[in-house]
Amino acid sequence: MTTLNNLNGCVAQFDPQALPVSAAQAIVLQWVTPLAASERVPLRDALDRVLADDVVSPIDVPAHDNAAMDGYAFDGARLASAGAGGALRLTVSGKAFAGHPFDGGVAPDACVRIMTGAPMPAGCDTVVPQERVERAGDAVSFAADAVARGANRRHKGEDLAAGRPALAAGRMLRAADIGLLASLGIVEVAVRRRLRVAYFSTGDELRSPGEPLAPGAIYDSNRYTLGAMLRRLNVDAIDLGIVRDEPVALEAALRGAAETADVVLTSGGVSVGEADFTRAQLQSLGDVAFWSLAMRPGRPLAFGRVWSGGRPGAGRAALLFGLPGNPVATMVTFYQIVRPALLAMAGAKAQPVPLIPAVCDAPVRKRAGRTEFQRGLAARGDNGQWRVAPTGSQSSGALSTMSAANCFLVLAHDATDLDAGDPVDIMLFDGLV
Ligand code: AMP
Ligand code: MG
Repeated sequence: MTTLNNLNGCVAQFDPQALPVSAAQAIVLQWVTPLAASERVPLRDALDRVLADDVVSPIDVPAHDNAAMDGYAFDGARLASAGAGGALRLTVSGKAFAGHPFDGGVAPDACVRIMTGAPMPAGCDTVVPQERVERAGDAVSFAADAVARGANRRHKGEDLAAGRPALAAGRMLRAADIGLLASLGIVEVAVRRRLRVAYFSTGDELRSPGEPLAPGAIYDSNRYTLGAMLRRLNVDAIDLGIVRDEPVALEAALRGAAETADVVLTSGGVSVGEADFTRAQLQSLGDVAFWSLAMRPGRPLAFGRVWSGGRPGAGRAALLFGLPGNPVATMVTFYQIVRPALLAMAGAKAQPVPLIPAVCDAPVRKRAGRTEFQRGLAARGDNGQWRVAPTGSQSSGALSTMSAANCFLVLAHDATDLDAGDPVDIMLFDGLV
């Protein structure tokens, strides 16, 4: 048993061989301190950055009442005078285009030809769409029930009123947010500095793609998946290459990484083999929170803090995730344990990835007492119901079935085997925005 501080600061007991995933996620978030430093960046460079301050709208959007359709603007009070089944005949006294307002007055029996986005002329509150009128010379006529008073007019400030909160600090800026900020006339925003994440692979058997493969060697894929997953999070990723299965080399790599990085990710060397040194290094260079999860894939996962000075409290500290070496285990632990921590540390107030109820199309083996994340291919049926089937081998080394998948089947800690037709929660890989 190991002793850990839980969320309330109390001391809790966990069996390090079987730390449940939810407990691990909670401990990791407890260890995270969000970055304080911020910088100003041009709007064009702000995508996927985390907003440092609340943004309050400096202006009304839209800035003026305007037409929502091409047609004719008039005083909607006239509709009542037409009576039931009646018609209106109005003289066209000018034109208003987006960017070219009509500045004149509009007589009660007149209207203004207006295009979408053009400011509503003074005294006009209604737009009759051009398809609903008959035009003869200088006049238009239309049935009074063709339009209700106030129709087809967008109100000043209806999207955002001046002084109202537009975006909250902690927002990870997406395309719509960038557009929203642009619509407020904002050219620069304060964002948290980017998180610095150093990562390396461990293993004497590893070669980089491009190098010849010696007998018994394999290509290092984890550094490539980690690099790609980190790029999606828009962190400042520092690739430290491959480190040999050798305590001195590993210590140098970890201490060097802690000099500059906020977080260090390693892969391999965290299980109990004779060449697995990461956990021992973590124990001597820093603090260990846990090193084994009740999770599949991903049972060996060391988490804690390393210090550049080589002992707790000496020099600079970085969080360390010692991820399992098996390529799918590396990915699954990244998504389930590391990603939420990186987002929290980057200052992002992110929504949890939603779980979607589905029906499992094939039997699935599952042992109670650990959370499993199986690779699946899901599709939405004609009846709107999601259906899912595992993509094949669930070996923690089989990247091909991860590549073929579009979701995880999330099998809860206490769940057991599933039959075809049973309900199961899925977590889709791709978000739209
Ligand atoms: P380990 O935890 O170091 O014993 O690694 C577990 C398995 O994952 C072994 O079969 C390793 O060869 C493999 N492995 C470790 N690191 C990598 C990597 N960076 N790329 C591909 N496979 C790896
Ligand atoms: Mg190894």
